[in-house]
Amino acid sequence: MRICYLLGFPVSHSISAVMQNAAFTALGIDCVYRLRQVRPEDLAEAVNELRSPSVLGANATIPHKVGLTSLLDELDTFAQTVGAVNTIVNHGGWLKGHNTDGPAALRAMREALGDLGGSRVVLLGAGGAARSVAHVLTENSAKLTILNRDREKAGKLVLQLRGACADLESGGLDSLGKALATADILVNATPVGMAPNIGATPVDSRLLHEGLLVFDLVYNPMKTRLLAEAEMAGAKTLSGVEMLVYQGAEAFRLWTGREPPEAVMMNAAREALRGRKP
Ligand code: NAP
Repeated sequence: MRICYLLGFPVSHSISAVMQNAAFTALGIDCVYRLRQVRPEDLAEAVNELRSPSVLGANATIPHKVGLTSLLDELDTFAQTVGAVNTIVNHGGWLKGHNTDGPAALRAMREALGDLGGSRVVLLGAGGAARSVAHVLTENSAKLTILNRDREKAGKLVLQLRGACADLESGGLDSLGKALATADILVNATPVGMAPNIGATPVDSRLLHEGLLVFDLVYNPMKTRLLAEAEMAGAKTLSGVEMLVYQGAEAFRLWTGREPPEAVMMNAAREALRGRKP
């Protein structure tokens, strides 16, 4: 039997094991996905253990996505560009890092809206997930405003993206009202509204309007307060569940070379999330 790990700290909240194990079972692949709590100071050792022939690969979550980039043997182009890894494949002891978060977010947004070229997007956050989303949006000609609690961090991200796109702005959360008035898409890439803080929202509901797609990367709960209020304002909504499943499906494809059973993965993820207490 081969093993895939999720490296994170903490990891107990993750539903990736439920989703990936359902996929291995559905295709009769002799592999098990295990959660592995790894402190940042132990990451290098945990990475070396991934070189074992029994390991197919791994996923990474908070806080390891950036730290991994300097510990692997090779990175794919997107992981290199973003500076973050969420998937590792063990090629006979040679570890290659990938980032499936950005393409997964792009696919989810395209399914909801079609072509994103020229769309005005307000992105909340400048952390790991926001970076992946910002890169795919600029590569797809969106006009992007990045707003973050720490405005300097948003400014730094915009500087990194400048080469890819000219239509970029950054600011603090106090610019939200002005930016949202003319936006087509709002992406929440902060953890605000995530369980257990389900009463929190990153956006005053009076700023939400028809004609907006509100995409919340938070997937627990599936309907956050932000999405519920967006619905009430007549906006389209997209939860983080699709992105979660699509990034997991791409990881599965990279590990196994097989077509991921996405419907099985989606059902397993939704079922696990429905069973969660807020
Ligand atoms: P991260 O690297 O820790 O970044 C968090 C970002 O949120 C930072 O920009 C931070 O601002 C901001 N933030 C944190 N608390 C805030 C608050 N109370 N008010 C305003 N801003 C706040 O985390 P991440 O990896 O990017 O993850 C962000 C969210 O995306 C998490 O909820 C995660 O579960 C979700 N996510 C979902 C998927 C999916 O597949 N659906 C994939 C990846 C991540 P400062 O810079 O000012 O600290």
